[in-house]
Amino acid sequence: MVVVKPTPRVLILGGTTEARRLAEHLVGRADVEVVSSLAGRVASPRMPAGQVRVGGFAGAAGLARWIGAHDIRAVIDATHPFAAQISRNAAAAAAASHVPLLALRRRAWVPAGGDRWHGATSLEEAAHMLPALGRRHFLTIGRQGVSSFAGVRRAWFLVRCIDPPQEPRPPRMELLLDRGPYSAEAEIALMRGRGVDTLVTKNSGGESTAAKLVGARELGLPVVMVARPATPGGVLEVSDVQGAAEWVDVQTR
Ligand code: NAP
Repeated sequence: MVVVKPTPRVLILGGTTEARRLAEHLVGRADVEVVSSLAGRVASPRMPAGQVRVGGFAGAAGLARWIGAHDIRAVIDATHPFAAQISRNAAAAAAASHVPLLALRRRAWVPAGGDRWHGATSLEEAAHMLPALGRRHFLTIGRQGVSSFAGVRRAWFLVRCIDPPQEPRPPRMELLLDRGPYSAEAEIALMRGRGVDTLVTKNSGGESTAAKLVGARELGLPVVMVARPATPGGVLEVSDVQGAAEWVDVQTR
């Protein structure tokens, strides 16, 4: 009797460029089945190649149930470096399900010569730092973080995000709905044109949105850089798609 082994299935927790690149890398292969998961936050997300599911799992326990019900062999947490809750849930669910977990995290940005970075450990701390740094702030911290700046008075904000932020928002602001990649030239023109005197960003890393840092350097502007939350302890981490694909090879052999 010939026993046909099922194709091993892996789950990519996504919502990032790296997650899409990994899915694209793996979908063409016959020896592995890939399902990507999106939170469903963005109104028109960039869809990964292959199978996709959208929406929360209902916590770590829900994710563990989903992993069991779909016979998932391995999980790659390729979510955004600031998506801390889903990363915690992934660590707990993978441990409970006895399924291997890898974190795929792009490298953090590091300051270069001429940069004037001011480190913050949270968006709230970043908001407290702003009055000492300027009056016209360029906020590039995503839609969900804008409310942390609602209490900053006597300041004007240029807020750039993919979808509109909810209330509360800063009282004086211009909303720019856009998504990267951006060029340094365009970023410089934008900051100069709006008279921006401070850039506020999370240390997301990656190339597609790094041009704002070049722009701030060229213009001599201070940057409030919000540090990333830590990856849950004990989770193996790689910084590139190739490394993640090699890990998948080992797990699905
Ligand atoms: P979060 O705070 O870490 O997660 C909150 C909840 O959203 C999770 O508990 C989970 O709900 C659900 N969730 C998050 N990512 C999910 C995924 N890939 N698939 C299914 N459910 C998911 O996450 P967040 O900061 O709101 O980010 C949401 C998504 O947007 C992430 O997938 C992330 O990669 C992407 N993103 C985030 C940022 C950022 O700055 N935070 C930037 C760019 C892209 P349940 O508990 O119900 O399972």
